[in-house]
Amino acid sequence: MRNIGNNIQLYNANEAQKILGTKVFHGMLYDKGGAHMNPLNYSIGIGQAIKTDARNVTIHENSAATAINFHTPKGHEIIVNNQNTIYAKKIVLAANYGNGEFVSRLNNNWIPISTFMLSTQPISPHILKSMLTNRTAVFDTRNVMNYFRLSETNCLLFGGGDAIGQFKIDSIKQLLYNDMIKIYPQLIGIKIQNFWHGKDSFTVNLAPTIGRVEGDDTIYHGEGYSGQGLALSNLTGKMFADSINGNHHNLKLFEMIKPFYLLKAKWFQNLSAKLGMEYFKILDTLEN
Ligand SMILES: Cc1cc2nc3c(=O)[nH]c(=O)nc-3n(C[C@H](O)[C@H](O)[C@H](O)COP(=O)(O)OP(=O)(O)OC[C@H]3O[C@@H](n4cnc5c(N)ncnc54)[C@H](O)[C@@H]3O)c2cc1C
Repeated sequence: MRNIGNNIQLYNANEAQKILGTKVFHGMLYDKGGAHMNPLNYSIGIGQAIKTDARNVTIHENSAATAINFHTPKGHEIIVNNQNTIYAKKIVLAANYGNGEFVSRLNNNWIPISTFMLSTQPISPHILKSMLTNRTAVFDTRNVMNYFRLSETNCLLFGGGDAIGQFKIDSIKQLLYNDMIKIYPQLIGIKIQNFWHGKDSFTVNLAPTIGRVEGDDTIYHGEGYSGQGLALSNLTGKMFADSINGNHHNLKLFEMIKPFYLLKAKWFQNLSAKLGMEYFKILDTLEN
């Protein structure tokens, strides 16, 4: 093991095998400063913090914005659940891949990618002894990656199988299971307890698209976090809050990162992304 800087350690293949319990990796870079967490608890925690700490803030569940008319004489007009209307001086579009429903040009910024996760049943203690001994969270460095960690209840949470466009859910489940078994053959036969998926917005340069719509100080949008949104979307929330309060400095830096596309046409973006994804999957297979 070699220390590189304060928090980063480099392990060779043998050392990595001892910690991770798999022979597939050629080595391991371990970031002691990194962390992993339970996103549900995190959401609940944010909700509780808002309830207890934030004055004049109310959370309204089951209140989808179904249409927005910008800049009416009364302000931005938001139609909620197709029936109620509220007016706002400033508006933050934070619906991730849904932002384009309200400002269609935002759809050019990103490509919808479905991503998948499974959870095994709890792993038996004698197998557990051999894997993820420091309970670290792992991602590989392939173009279309897998990532995994143990849950508090010793189930393996295993993600990957990214797909663009239509997909067959059973095939993806099998593919993800196969990917897991390739890394952990000791888990052959283990039952899948849960399997779920969601859509995320990806950009070609993997940089998020964050800012004000056409420089309008009253309409903010953030999307394109490219699978890294857990931390980034919260940083964005802070930048939006600062900007709404008159400090645009950090937001301006992000606004300078322009979305990259060869053609604006959505059909072309989706087709080229699909071809690109398949190309990188083949490359990953050849390189491993
Ligand atoms: C399976 C999976 C695994 C992932 N793993 C990771 C990971 O390990 N690390 C990581 O950093 N990121 C991960 N991501 C990506 C991460 O979840 C997103 O980048 C992040 O949640 C984006 O945050 P957000 O607040 O912009 O949008 P979201 O978290 O998508 O929240 C948008 C909210 O807006 C609401 N909404 C949508 N439309 C409307 C509307 N019209 N009116 C009102 N509300 C609306 C939605 O219900 C939702 O609550 C993963 C995503 C998936 C699907």
